Amino acid sequence: MPSIQILPELLINQIAAGEVVERPASALKEVLENSLDAGARAIEVELHAGGTKLLKVVDDGAGIAPEELVMALARHATSKLLTLEDLERVASLGFRGEALASIAAVSLLTLTSRTSEARHAWRIEARGGELSPAEPASGSLGTSMEVRDLYFNTPARRKFLRTEATELAHCDEVFRRAALSRPDIAFSLQHNGRVVWRLRPQAPLERVRAVLGDEAAQALLPMDEANGNVRLHGFVASPAFNRGNRDYQYIFVNGRFVRDKLLAHAIRQAFHDVLHHERHPAFVLFLEIDHARVDVNVHPTKTEVRFRDPQAVHQFVFHALSRLLAGTRAGAATAPEPETALYGATNAAEGYTSAWNPTRQVPMALPVREAAAFYQTLFGGKPATLPTLPSTEDSNDAPPLGFALAQLLGVYILAQNQHGLVIVDMHAAHERIMYEKLKSALESERVARQPLLIPATLSVGNLEAATVEENAEALAQLGFDMAILSPTTVVVRGVPAPLRDADPVALARDVLHEMAEFGATRVLTEHRDAMLSTMACHASVRANRALSVPEMNALLREMEITERSGQCNHGRPTWTQISLAELDRLFLRGR
Ligand code: ADP
Ligand code: MG
Repeated sequence: MPSIQILPELLINQIAAGEVVERPASALKEVLENSLDAGARAIEVELHAGGTKLLKVVDDGAGIAPEELVMALARHATSKLLTLEDLERVASLGFRGEALASIAAVSLLTLTSRTSEARHAWRIEARGGELSPAEPASGSLGTSMEVRDLYFNTPARRKFLRTEATELAHCDEVFRRAALSRPDIAFSLQHNGRVVWRLRPQAPLERVRAVLGDEAAQALLPMDEANGNVRLHGFVASPAFNRGNRDYQYIFVNGRFVRDKLLAHAIRQAFHDVLHHERHPAFVLFLEIDHARVDVNVHPTKTEVRFRDPQAVHQFVFHALSRLLAGTRAGAATAPEPETALYGATNAAEGYTSAWNPTRQVPMALPVREAAAFYQTLFGGKPATLPTLPSTEDSNDAPPLGFALAQLLGVYILAQNQHGLVIVDMHAAHERIMYEKLKSALESERVARQPLLIPATLSVGNLEAATVEENAEALAQLGFDMAILSPTTVVVRGVPAPLRDADPVALARDVLHEMAEFGATRVLTEHRDAMLSTMACHASVRANRALSVPEMNALLREMEITERSGQCNHGRPTWTQISLAELDRLFLRGR
C-alpha cells in the first residue's frame, strides 16, 4: 500500500487543467474573461492551428503590476475576492484564481503586462508551470497573454484534441459569446493570420446583427422588462425566424454566458404554442439579477448557475417572454392570461417536467376527489363488485401497486391494491423507469443500440457537427449510431434500444447539445445522470395516449422492480395511495 502524499503543485495544476482548460476554447474563454474583468475596451485574439499552436489575447485593460506577475500565475491567487461574503456576491467573471495557473501548467505561456503606474511593461514566462523571473519588456498599457503549444507536456490530454477546424469552431463560439456579451467593447479574431472577426464598439442590436447575421437581426424583437431585483433584456427573434438547432440561443446572467436548464425551460415554455417543437427560437437575452441571488460557483467552468429563488426567476422569464410573443400572434392584441398560460400549458407531452414547474404539483386534493368520484361512477362504491383482490393469506404475492382499472384524463393510471386506490402519474413513472434502465445499461458497459429502419437526418450547426465527430465513442456507448453526412447534416442510424419509440431527431439534438456543453468525459461521468435523465424524457409515454389495461399493468409491474421508482427524475412522486378508509371518509361512511 503506497503512503498518502500531498501532490506536487504542478500535478495539482495539471489535474485542475483537465477541467478548466479542457481544450483551447476553454483556455480562450478564461483569458477573455480576465480581459473583460480588467476593464478592457478593446480585445484582440490571435489563433494558430485552432488555438493549439498559439492562442494569444491582447487587451488594453488595467494591466498587472510587475510585482504581481508571479502571483497572477499562482494557483488560488486572485484579485477578485477575499472573503466568503465576496464569493456569495461575485460580480466579476473570474474569482477562483485557478485559470492562469492551470493554463501555465500545460503550455508555454508568456504574460506581458503594463499598468498605468509602470514606466514600461514587464514580462514573465512559464514553461509547463516553471517560471522565469520577470523582466522588462516593450508593450503598451494592458495585458498580452500568449499561450503556445497547449498540452505539450500532457500527451494524454493532447490526444483528445480534434482537428484544427473543430478546435477553431469551439474557439469561435467562445468568441461570439464574449462579443455578444459586451457590444460596447471592440473585439477582433484572427486565425492563421486571416481576419475572422473585426468588431468595433456598437449598439447592442448592431452587435447582434454583426454576430448572428442580417436575417436574424431583421426578425429580432427588442425587450426589456424588470420586476423587483430582476431584469430581462435583449432580443428575441419573432417565431417566424427559427432554427433547426439551438445555435442562436444565448443567455447571459449578469454578463456571464450560461447554460441553464431553468431558463431554457422558461423560454421553451413561452414559445410552446407559437413554434413547432422541432424548431428552435433565436435569442440573445441578458438576465440581470442581484448578485447575492445567484450562485456562480457551481463548477470550475462557471457556465452553470444556481438561483436562490428558481421558481420566481422561472415565472418572471416565462411571463416576460409570453407577453412579448403575445404581440406576435395574429389577432392577439392582449397578453395571454398568465394563469392559463402557466398552468394550462403542461409540458407533459413534450416530456419535460421539472421541480420548478408547478404544473400538477400543487392541487393534489383535486385528483383525489376526481379519482374517488370516478371510482364511484364505475363501481357504485361497492368494492365487492370489483375484480377479486388477493386475499390476505396470499397478500405476499399481491403486487404492491395492484392492478390497473382505468386511465384518468390521459394522465393518471387508476389501480387497486389491497389497501385501496392507487393513482400513478404514468408519464413521470415511465420516465423514471427509462432513466433507471439507461443507467443500469450504461453501468454494464454500454447501452444496446436499436438500428432505425428509416435513418433520420437533422440539420446541424458547426458545433453540433463537431460534437458528432469528436464524440463517436461516447455516442456509441450511449447507444447511438450517428454520422456526419454533410457539413450541415447529421444522420441518426441507431438510437438507444430503450428509447426506440422516441423521436430520434429531438433525442439526438438534446444529446449533442449536452455533449457540446459538457464534453464527452463529463457527460459520461459527473454529468451522466443529468444526461440520462434528459434522454429518458424523450421516451416517456406521451400524456393523453390511451393505454390498454395490459399496458398499464405492465407499467405497474415495471415500477415495482425499478429502483427509486417512487419519484420521477425531478423528484416529484410518481404514485400515491388512497386507502379505503380515506375513501370512506370522503363518502362519510362508517360514521
Ligand atoms: P481569476 O480570474 O479567477 O481571479 P485567473 O487565474 O484567471 O484567476 O487570474 C489570476 C489573476 O491575474 C486575476 O485575479 C487578475 O488579478 C490577474 N489577471 C489575469 N489576467 C489579467 C488581465 N488580462 N488583466 C489584468 N489582470 C489580469
Ligand atoms: Mg480568470
